[in-house]
Amino acid sequence: MAKALLLIADGLGDRPIKELGDKTPLEATEKPNLDKLATEGECGIMDPIAPGVRAGSDTSHLAILGYDPYKYYTGRGPFEAAGIGMDVKKGDIAFRCNFTTVDDNMIVTDRRAGRISSGTDQLAAAVNGMEIDGVQVIFKESVAHRAALILRAPGLGAAISDTDPHHEGTKVLKCEPLDGNDEASAKTAKVVNEFVRRSYEILKLHPINRERIAQGLNPANIILPRGAGMGPHMESFEAEYGLKAACVAETGLINGVARYVGMKIAEVPGATGGADSNLINMAKAIVDELASVDFVLCNVKGADVGGHDGAVQVKIDMIKKLDEMVAYLIANLPTDTYVVLTADHSTPCAIKDHSGDPVPIVFWGQGVRMDAVKHFDERSVISGGVHRIRGIDIMKIITQLMNVAEKFGA
Ligand code: ZN
Ligand code: ZN
Repeated sequence: MAKALLLIADGLGDRPIKELGDKTPLEATEKPNLDKLATEGECGIMDPIAPGVRAGSDTSHLAILGYDPYKYYTGRGPFEAAGIGMDVKKGDIAFRCNFTTVDDNMIVTDRRAGRISSGTDQLAAAVNGMEIDGVQVIFKESVAHRAALILRAPGLGAAISDTDPHHEGTKVLKCEPLDGNDEASAKTAKVVNEFVRRSYEILKLHPINRERIAQGLNPANIILPRGAGMGPHMESFEAEYGLKAACVAETGLINGVARYVGMKIAEVPGATGGADSNLINMAKAIVDELASVDFVLCNVKGADVGGHDGAVQVKIDMIKKLDEMVAYLIANLPTDTYVVLTADHSTPCAIKDHSGDPVPIVFWGQGVRMDAVKHFDERSVISGGVHRIRGIDIMKIITQLMNVAEKFGA
């Protein structure tokens, strides 16, 4: 059977930039291997969710994998929790959290608790496993000051406000249901407030924090949950498409989406999620995984980081690294592999955030209807054979190229 690689360059799309002579970073950068894919493949532009919709990385990846985000996405929490290896079940309410520093009056003095880098496993163990009003509390540390929380019980709702005020010098916010008549969410809010209160009681005197205070560091003396979402029921990727799949990604959020639909998560040394990431190691991991699975989802984060920072040069450098990665892939992938290269959204350097602009896409591999496009960039691909599609269309196109799609009708 044919194999496929879906390679997502996070935030790659951009807008014309004056200092680049009104070219986009893709248009202004030499990238012979990306252009080779465009020359030999079929190109077009892609709206991750719909024209003009500013996609998040999570909602976009859901759509690109064929899962309607309007149906399955209730918040970032469930995918963040899954991304650090927590077992999120349908109906769970999941949150991302910060270890934070507050003073005696519950004023946030350091949202990231001095970017605490050790001991959070012991702090997490001290709050994990408690029960509040019959609700099971599952808590796990992530990297640095980050963590995730799951509340498990029947009859909970996720339509609640955040406790993190997002500003220092401000009091911890009370979690409240967004709609006063929503009893399920009101119950969750009550539990969240009690969890926050107890986290402070438990953590303020914890030996790790006594030690931090002795060293002049900010104690991680409270946990603030945010981004509540209810664990959705999603069919596994393998059940959906009949393809065994693995994910090669750098961020917990993308690994979380992939893990949620049952993909194997690859560990890649040197994959940092920044501009310094080792993309050749990622390419090697893709080749390794394709020896045993049919499909690999890969997300390379760096271009998005450059876009958020408004750093044009970082984006250009990432495009060059991506080009080297693609050269390695072309040389080393099994010959019957389809490659689809695209982005999950545009992150224009001038906006420093995700925009609703569509992104370039190319389908490459045996039997693809090669078109006249020679360059992989936002404007060159417009004349290609794919024309303009949505993220949700991509898996249909890949599976029919691989000849594993079911026929609709006789
Ligand atoms: Zn993204
Ligand atoms: Zn982003």
